[in-house]
Amino acid sequence: MQPNRPGAPGRPPSQQYSPFSLPGSASSTASRPFLPGPTQPMRPEQPPSQPSYPPGTAIQGFSVLSASSTPLAGPEQNYPRETPPVRSNGPVVPFQPSPNLPPPRGGPSSFVHPTLGGPMIGQPMAPPSGSSAVQQIAPTSGPRLPPVPSSASVPMGPPPQAANYMSLGGNFPPANPSSSEYPPGRTSSIPTSGPPMPHSVSQPYQGGQGGQVPFFAPRTSFPSPQLGIPAQQHFPQQGGPLAYPGAVSQPPMLSSYMDAQKARAPPSYPMAVPPAGGVQGLVEEFQSLSVGSVPGSVDPGVDPSLLPRPLDEADLEGTTSSSTYVSNCHPRHLRFTTNAIPNSQSLMARWHLPLGAVVHPLAEAPNGEEIPVVDFGNSGIVRCRRCRTYVNPYVTFTDGGRRWRCNVCSLLNDVAGEYFAPLDVNGRRRDADERPELSKGSVEFVAPTEYMVRPPMPPLYFFLIDVSLSSVRNGMLKVAVETIKSSLDKLPGFPRTQIGFLTFDSALHFYNLKSSLTQPQMMVVADLDDPFVPLPDDLLVNLSDSRHVVEALLDSLPSMFEENTNIESAFGPALKAAFMVMSQLGGKLLIFQSTLPSLGVGRLKLRGDDPRIYGTDKEHTVRIAEDPFYKQMAADLTKYQIGVNLYAFSDRYTDIASLGTLSKYTGGQVYYYPSFHASLYKEKFSHELARDLTRETAWEAVMRIRCGKGVRFTTYHGHFMLRSSDLLALPAVDCDKAFAMQLTLEDTLLTTQTVYFQVALLYTSSSGERRIRVHTMAVPVVSDLGEMYRNADTGAIICLLSRLAIEKTLSHKLEEARHVIQLRTVRSLQEYRNLFAVQHRLAGRLIYPDSLKLLPLYGLALCKSLALRGGFADAHIDERSAAGFNMMIIPIKRLLKLLYPSLGRLDEFLLKGPVMGGDDAKGSLQRLVLSAERLDPRGAFLYDDGFRFVLWLGKVLPAEFIKNLLGVEAANSPDLSKLPVIEQNNELSRKLLATLKALRERDPAFYQHCYLLRQGEQPREGSLLLFNLVEDQIAGTSGYVEWLLQIHRQVQQKG
Ligand SMILES: [Zn+2]
Repeated sequence: MQPNRPGAPGRPPSQQYSPFSLPGSASSTASRPFLPGPTQPMRPEQPPSQPSYPPGTAIQGFSVLSASSTPLAGPEQNYPRETPPVRSNGPVVPFQPSPNLPPPRGGPSSFVHPTLGGPMIGQPMAPPSGSSAVQQIAPTSGPRLPPVPSSASVPMGPPPQAANYMSLGGNFPPANPSSSEYPPGRTSSIPTSGPPMPHSVSQPYQGGQGGQVPFFAPRTSFPSPQLGIPAQQHFPQQGGPLAYPGAVSQPPMLSSYMDAQKARAPPSYPMAVPPAGGVQGLVEEFQSLSVGSVPGSVDPGVDPSLLPRPLDEADLEGTTSSSTYVSNCHPRHLRFTTNAIPNSQSLMARWHLPLGAVVHPLAEAPNGEEIPVVDFGNSGIVRCRRCRTYVNPYVTFTDGGRRWRCNVCSLLNDVAGEYFAPLDVNGRRRDADERPELSKGSVEFVAPTEYMVRPPMPPLYFFLIDVSLSSVRNGMLKVAVETIKSSLDKLPGFPRTQIGFLTFDSALHFYNLKSSLTQPQMMVVADLDDPFVPLPDDLLVNLSDSRHVVEALLDSLPSMFEENTNIESAFGPALKAAFMVMSQLGGKLLIFQSTLPSLGVGRLKLRGDDPRIYGTDKEHTVRIAEDPFYKQMAADLTKYQIGVNLYAFSDRYTDIASLGTLSKYTGGQVYYYPSFHASLYKEKFSHELARDLTRETAWEAVMRIRCGKGVRFTTYHGHFMLRSSDLLALPAVDCDKAFAMQLTLEDTLLTTQTVYFQVALLYTSSSGERRIRVHTMAVPVVSDLGEMYRNADTGAIICLLSRLAIEKTLSHKLEEARHVIQLRTVRSLQEYRNLFAVQHRLAGRLIYPDSLKLLPLYGLALCKSLALRGGFADAHIDERSAAGFNMMIIPIKRLLKLLYPSLGRLDEFLLKGPVMGGDDAKGSLQRLVLSAERLDPRGAFLYDDGFRFVLWLGKVLPAEFIKNLLGVEAANSPDLSKLPVIEQNNELSRKLLATLKALRERDPAFYQHCYLLRQGEQPREGSLLLFNLVEDQIAGTSGYVEWLLQIHRQVQQKG
């Protein structure tokens, strides 16, 4: 059990405690700023009548630590099991299991309480990394999977929340016994720059063959996507029709479309068709594609470049709803999938897209648009006494200003004397314009003490760092501690900020950071079965007081473990120890993990990925946590206000699906750096960690969205834990997190003209103030389906759809998730077509509202995204899981950029005009169609998806240019994978770096590492770039043209 310790200074190898000096007494409890009472969070928005929990007893005298190697390990010793505050003395805080909580799945229930009571089942085990299973995830050269018909397709209705998270498998009968068909290996899915590989792959986008699609009676209604389109026509770089059975038998349907009926403004997509009949002032903004209705029909002479594409930044922005509601909050905070609520169930049934909202409560506002802060002082926040809605611009005052009517529930409330103001002739309060809460859609209220059950917590950062061999070897440890050290001054909440560290390999290393010390003391606990926390008072310290000790620790960590050859990871026990240390206050837990957890509770198997289960009903099991430990820990962490951000670095399988569960249910985030090495990715990791540490964070938060009578939110999608049916627990939430939710009608008929929505985020600011951020929005109720479509918001739709699809992959096959995306697109366009096609004689055309012009393209891109694409061979399971976690939290704009990245010609941009630097370099790179056709071998192109850059160098780009731009090595080396972009001593290079910098600054949430890539460099060109050119027909997937054709044909099936 004793690890193979490195001979670090001050750490004799065989002692459990190897302090720099003898640890002193740990008995002080008075110094703790907060009583260790129950950490039930703030009272979430309830009236004060809610029972509060009796405070626990403060920790009682910890006895003096001895340096002996034994005394503390026994059961029920002085402290571990009983004393840590959260568990012991007071009654255990009753925690309402939310629907998001899994029932313990037959496992030991030892984690229900934060106490570490009961021995864990952790046995030291087993093969560290490097054993045979690794081969499973390495690309091999076997053929790809054969097509597997999908089983029943289930439209993504609003399943109960639990279903989104808790389908842990096992419910599905083993299907498709033909697994022997599947060859063991996988092919690199990576497309080449030459003709596409004629994969005999399961077709990702072919809709529901075998599915039960009510709309389309015959099974053939979702024909194969392989339309055998004459590829050379639009995609000359690719070969002909794919060689899979049946594909070539399809007649080409068309070579191009659009008869561009020029009508309105000059968009770059097919033109709107002016309504033919002026009945009822049909000013429907719809577009149409003239796609032949008869297979084989050709409509020559039309340019596919006219298809709708988001080539303009403005396409990513939300549309503000009608000018009727001028007091609505900005769409950066709240967007609906349609800004028109259907007035009846029957109307809603004809809206085949998700009905719901995307909330981004802490979205960063540009300078000058900061959210006003309102402090009602002693008089208290003005809220409706029945539904608890916060006063907002849509409440109406009556009775000379003495009463106000709640816009959400219509109750008449009294106006308190101190809040009274007379009304003007229009019945508006005379002071409305001076009061942000009566004139602005977004305000922040300062919450009085009744919104607290304990003093506001200080910002708290606890670092749990893997210091095993791989963390040292890949440079992670060094970069992490350097970044933490350089961020210390910028951590929010000075001078209250708290900080602590725990490192681990096969043992746990605690650090006493008491301010009276000159050097940190390290304590090693090797008992993983029953870990305990030595010295609980000084492991977490005030940063200002202990700054010098913290810095000394950070300075010494890399050298302490420099020689560490330990390859084990006692992650689970370390996590539990961190939890015990933090449980008194809560805070942010940052985990840095380089290996698969191998020791103690929560150890994970090298289950890897398995080609044989793809296409079967067990397929999803690799995408969910295997061990219930992770979900249970997440539930416990959330309960004690701890949010987890996971940084994972391994170049081997680390089971991101399991580890990421910790972030998923604690409102956190997963950062994944596959094949990390500091020499290459230091900047990316360092930037993203620094952002995480310094961005404004809302602590111990809860969020609720209220809505008017007759409508109701049914499901929520993102990273959080539901505390009750509609209260999202968010231990630490920041400006980079968005949440999606679905909505349904409760009544058969809505009689109001408007439905009001109000998002309220109750949180503790880093400065220690309890606040409530409130966003209010009014949305009109409509009785006309056309209105719903006209007011659709494609960005919000895609965001919600992406989250539904990703959740579906956790209980279904990838193919089924993709199918739903296609199905919903088709149904919605079909419904729209029924509205307008006949009266405008557009029978043979694909018509769609202007608001949804990008829906098919984004739907396609979603199906091709890393989280949803292909099958076994198309993404490493860890990368797929990480991508899924990421897509569950990112706001709309970032998602759209990820789905349809920008591609621009860089060499011309850099060469033309005066050489600029700094901000001038923002002069934008013209965005190009995402197709390999646009990659000119004479040029250099920059691809940017918001998470990475790819700088593609054409084959015949002059070597001199490359040398100037990137240096001699880049010009000569055949392998660019290890080359960083470094400034050369010339203007061209400086302009490149300025351009990259400017692009990065546009959205600082992530740092785009710049990958260099030479045309034809395999297999990197495929994985880095070609596969992400979503308009191409590549690796067995549909291109944009084929996709539209499929959709059109399906729309035509029954109209
Ligand atoms: Zn009300």
